[in-house]
Amino acid sequence: MSQDLTLNQRIVLVSRPTGAPSPENFRLERVALPDLEEGQVLLRTLYLSLDPYMRGRMSDAPSYAAPVEIDAVMTGGAVSVVQQSRHPKFQQGDLVVGSTGWQSHSISDGAGLMPLPAGIPSPSLALGVLGMPGMTAYMGLTHIGQPKAGETLVVAAASGAVGSVVGQVAKLQGLRVVGVAGGADKCRYVVDELGFDACIDHKADDFAQQLAQACPQGIDVYFENVGGKVFDAVLPLLNPKARIPVCGLIAQYNATALPEGPDRFSLLPRTLLTKRIRMQGFIVFDDYGDRHAEFFAAMVPWVRDGKIKFREDVVEGLENAPEAFIGLLEGRNFGKLVVKVADA
Ligand code: NDP
Repeated sequence: MSQDLTLNQRIVLVSRPTGAPSPENFRLERVALPDLEEGQVLLRTLYLSLDPYMRGRMSDAPSYAAPVEIDAVMTGGAVSVVQQSRHPKFQQGDLVVGSTGWQSHSISDGAGLMPLPAGIPSPSLALGVLGMPGMTAYMGLTHIGQPKAGETLVVAAASGAVGSVVGQVAKLQGLRVVGVAGGADKCRYVVDELGFDACIDHKADDFAQQLAQACPQGIDVYFENVGGKVFDAVLPLLNPKARIPVCGLIAQYNATALPEGPDRFSLLPRTLLTKRIRMQGFIVFDDYGDRHAEFFAAMVPWVRDGKIKFREDVVEGLENAPEAFIGLLEGRNFGKLVVKVADA
């Protein structure tokens, strides 16, 4: 059957950003979709996830994943509905999650498409608390952080998709949890709604002092989301045998040069050595991609029973994705950032 009435709206990368991305790095275009072939499905995007890792895909510097090519559709996870199917495993109307990109429609051979987790309260959660960021938090914390009741954990970007889950899971496991977030509103939410013991505003002049006061017993687990001055403030507070899951370094994603000031690098290996600290990076789907069942078994009941709370920052319209993404790297989002592309 011809689909000549279906136009795909998509956002492509037109140039690689230097420093912070700008709207000129992206182009919105409309293209006709080809006919479906046997074994393919036509997907209509409902929600697109915007995530910090996308900044890395805009760059052609060596990384763990290939960059988005110039004039290619920006990469991204999305929840979609199957609009047409010529694939034996998918029916029209099925909801799926997959890496289908910044576009209103996509054609897939089914590879990498997953059904939404059973019992999910709302489809967009498959991009947040019950999706890649939630799984990142859970796997990094439990497998690398190895939290123990009574210990102190610090996590930054604490109101966001990953940090909010890290802190709440750690609270469920009996830790003292101190968040770091940008601004009073986010900090209030982290303590009052998410139940962290404290939250420190990283924009405060005396941030390092406040963090030290909030961690009177030192820090046993530092879940690294941001790097930069937060890491500088955490380093002297780390306890012997502390664990540091290195998840992300968002404070550095737009950097074009090394930070100014004296070279303090030798402080890090010296601290790791003398305090026997374990610091380990991870990439969630590369390292834990076969553990979805473990993640869902723990997280779905917690979310269903209200033990893990979440907040979404929903932006309407695919055309607004570039500006929303630019804001993510400046801390303008408040909660998991998703773009609502279409109604279900
Ligand atoms: P968030 O929803 O937390 O949004 C990003 C937040 O980062 C902003 O809201 C802002 O919060 C904070 N931020 C931005 N710039 C800075 C800065 N210069 N200094 C301090 N904080 C800053 O994002 P996610 O939860 O999706 O991602 C959190 C981290 O996890 C990122 O580093 C990301 O790359 C990483 N990640 C890693 C994965 C992996 O497999 N290793 C998978 C998924 C995510 P605020 O205003 O509070 O500062």
